[in-house]
Amino acid sequence: MNAPLLPNFFAGSWQHGSGEGTPLFDPVLGTELARVSSAGIDLAEGFAFAREHGGPALRALSYGQRAALLAKIVEVLQAHRDSYYEIATANSGTVAKDSGVDIDGALFTLGYYAKQGAALGEATLLLDGERIRMGKDPAFQTQHIQVPTPGVALFINAFNFPSWGLWEKAAPALLSGVPVIVKPATATAWLTQRMVKDVVDAGVLPVGALSVICGSSAGLMDALQAFDVVSFTGSAETGQVIRSHRAVTALSVRCNIEADSLNSALLAPSATADSEAFQLLVAEVAREMTVKSGQKCTAIRRVFVPRALYKAAALAIGARLSQTLVGNPRNASVRMGALVSQAQKASVLAGLAQLKTEATVLFDGHSAPLVDADASSACVAPVLLGTESPMTAQLLHAVEVFGPVCTLMPYDHIDEAYAMIRRGEGSLVCSVYSEDPAFTAQASVQLASSHGRVHAISPDVAALHSGHGNVMPMSLHGGPGRAGGGEELGGLRALNFYHRRSAIQGSSLALDALAAQGTRWPL
Ligand code: NAP
Repeated sequence: MNAPLLPNFFAGSWQHGSGEGTPLFDPVLGTELARVSSAGIDLAEGFAFAREHGGPALRALSYGQRAALLAKIVEVLQAHRDSYYEIATANSGTVAKDSGVDIDGALFTLGYYAKQGAALGEATLLLDGERIRMGKDPAFQTQHIQVPTPGVALFINAFNFPSWGLWEKAAPALLSGVPVIVKPATATAWLTQRMVKDVVDAGVLPVGALSVICGSSAGLMDALQAFDVVSFTGSAETGQVIRSHRAVTALSVRCNIEADSLNSALLAPSATADSEAFQLLVAEVAREMTVKSGQKCTAIRRVFVPRALYKAAALAIGARLSQTLVGNPRNASVRMGALVSQAQKASVLAGLAQLKTEATVLFDGHSAPLVDADASSACVAPVLLGTESPMTAQLLHAVEVFGPVCTLMPYDHIDEAYAMIRRGEGSLVCSVYSEDPAFTAQASVQLASSHGRVHAISPDVAALHSGHGNVMPMSLHGGPGRAGGGEELGGLRALNFYHRRSAIQGSSLALDALAAQGTRWPL
């Protein structure tokens, strides 16, 4: 018998798509969990409803009032937190700690925006910079303002963060006064759908402010209009489809793309095998490879160490990885669960085979048996690859394997390391491990133009840092070039995407009246 079809919340009501729907599976047990379908749903009606009902109701509130709504969402989600962990175990195959990255990461992000938004108070618009005189007489001036866009925000999300992926985007959108329509990736749509259901059932938001549509993406981009925005997270290939859609090219729908990324970790040239910088890099690489089974867009894919430390690093990372028991996340001894689906397993194994044409295997976790899971599950053990000739490699700098796979590479000169890191053609994050603040500063400047974030780690922040791959709401997330060219989070900077800037040229008296409705921006 088919699992139940999850309803979509669209145009202010719960609607089932037609047909049998697409099944969602438990990646460890192989059982069918739920089905999704968007077939037959009137997309134009749902988008119009959000624009005409959700948007105006949100924009009738101040930033402070909308921030209070975010705080209420946190309360609702907190109350149902246990059920989200159950869904994540079943549908994403993650151990509790990894489910927490997605679920508690979302709650933290929402809470952060609730607090930051409260500081914007009773304003309904943002006063962007100071007033500027247009001539000698100060009576005629320009004030730039930012106002929320009067359209909808469409989120097309990736499978690896069904919770955080929704709320890290929805928090700044709702705070801005822009209604949200989320289309989760099909494989893990259940958690997104359930969270929206809980928030809708609690009646926290105005109807039309938050909608969810699960299943096929067909027609979603066609439903966009001039003042809408689309925020996409997923593969570079789909990102290209989004970016070249008529809504973006002809209607100037603002588009944010978070795509794939060959993130790096760099050990300083002065490090030694017994230095703290070395230990910090080793621990972080092993952690990044195994958290969420390496299914993080920010995970470390390439590690650059001074040539003299190549073998020591391989041994040390391998030793850490050998402690990672892989298998059924329901078993308390398991540290790393499954990949999200059989399709991802096939994709990771194919990518690994590609990388192996240029690299040797330094550590392979497949020699250990899976715990409470058989070989037909979507579990894949961590694999550390390496090459002693990274400068001539091509695939190692070009193929993102979205799983517990990483490649270790030696460098002879720091400029060589920078050049190889940049061959990722724009990445989300690079972490730097050094005990020398001057080197860290120099490396940060070198890496900043090709990375959305540089995570610079030294012994004094060893116990404090937030982790290479953890995306924190106060810091920018996104990256240039191949990473999609997008920007998310970064504190209240995230509001820029959901606002329109306009230069108001007028009398000082009119600008005084305007200023009474606004708050200074940036704060
Ligand atoms: P994907 O296949 O590109 O899918 C992403 C989303 O796009 C899904 O919701 C998918 O729906 C939808 N989609 C597929 N084809 C579409 C089309 N023609 N038009 C509109 N939407 C379409 O990516 P994925 O495999 O889910 O995600 C893995 C990738 O995401 C990795 O490369 C990873 O690096 C990247 N990622 C990046 C970030 C970041 O923040 N930079 C974060 C997470 C993941 P269906 O699921 O229904 O096909």
